[in-house]
Amino acid sequence: MFRFLKKIVYRTCVGCKKVDAKKNMIRLIVKDQELIIDQKKRLGQRGASLHPLAKCLNFAIKSRAFHRAFKYSGALNTSQVQANLTGEVPLISSNNQNLTEKTQ
Ligand SMILES: [Zn+2]
Repeated sequence: MFRFLKKIVYRTCVGCKKVDAKKNMIRLIVKDQELIIDQKKRLGQRGASLHPLAKCLNFAIKSRAFHRAFKYSGALNTSQVQANLTGEVPLISSNNQNLTEKTQ
């Protein structure tokens, strides 16, 4: 039961569909019709992994990947996550230097 401890956990990005280490991704959840970042990774519910990049987020929104990932149909407010990923709000304290450079 401990064989997973030394392994890197991989997740598939719902935007670009590339597999990457979990630590390079953010976890997103839906709460009250709003897409939010599960910072504490403690909200025990269905989540979706995404690179902390605006292009991956946009891709996921366009392809309705979040609706599929959450088995959710209905209005989904993604503005909070979009604000994070476009640099208006700091997302992750480290490893986000090149995120704020991006233009939409
Ligand atoms: Zn991605």
